[in-house]
Amino acid sequence: MHVNMQNKKIMKNIILFGPPGSGKGTQAVKLVEVFGLKHISTGDLFRFNMKNDTPLGKEAKSYIEKGELVPDSVTIGMLKSAVNENMDAKGFILDGFPRNIFQSESLDAFFKEKGIELSGLLSLDVEDDELVKRILNRGKTSGRKDDSSEEIIRNRIAVYSAQTSPVFDYYAKVNKSFKIDGLGTVEEIFERLSKKIKEL
Ligand code: ADP
Repeated sequence: MHVNMQNKKIMKNIILFGPPGSGKGTQAVKLVEVFGLKHISTGDLFRFNMKNDTPLGKEAKSYIEKGELVPDSVTIGMLKSAVNENMDAKGFILDGFPRNIFQSESLDAFFKEKGIELSGLLSLDVEDDELVKRILNRGKTSGRKDDSSEEIIRNRIAVYSAQTSPVFDYYAKVNKSFKIDGLGTVEEIFERLSKKIKEL
């Protein structure tokens, strides 16, 4: 997974960051099309496992439905498997991971072991009331239990503030964290993200 100058393979490994409802999933799908990176969403992986009633899905369900984080032991193993299964990718967009400092440290150690370098963390900046509005709206069609009540949504935002937002500062210490304005049209936000990714 090292940069190969001969075929000019461009390697980018991005953490797409931001609170629940900030638009990570929407943007990741578009970024994959343009940059050809492998999108790994821990939320999507958990939902797939819950839908298929796997042991991992059964374990994750109770936490997710309360808006809590799934234990690190489960989440980190799942993330590593997803990366290991895609080592032929041009690079990765991690969405929903890392979500606390321990996960960040684990990711750093794992990437080091694999010879993968983190290009940067891009954080979508959106205020809380807008997040709640967006998620309740998504809940009308997503069928996600964790999207259905304002109480659960507020808990997810509180968990984000307490446990996840320090991850931004963690990577800021090595100059790898960048804020992106998450308000505007999907297209406008996509342009901001693309511009930044090209600079990394
Ligand atoms: P959103 O960003 O909209 O909250 P996700 O789809 O990323 O939703 O995640 C849904 C839920 O899955 C989270 O609320 C959490 O319970 C669980 N989850 C996802 N990623 C992680 C993670 N890295 N660590 C622990 N739990 C996670």
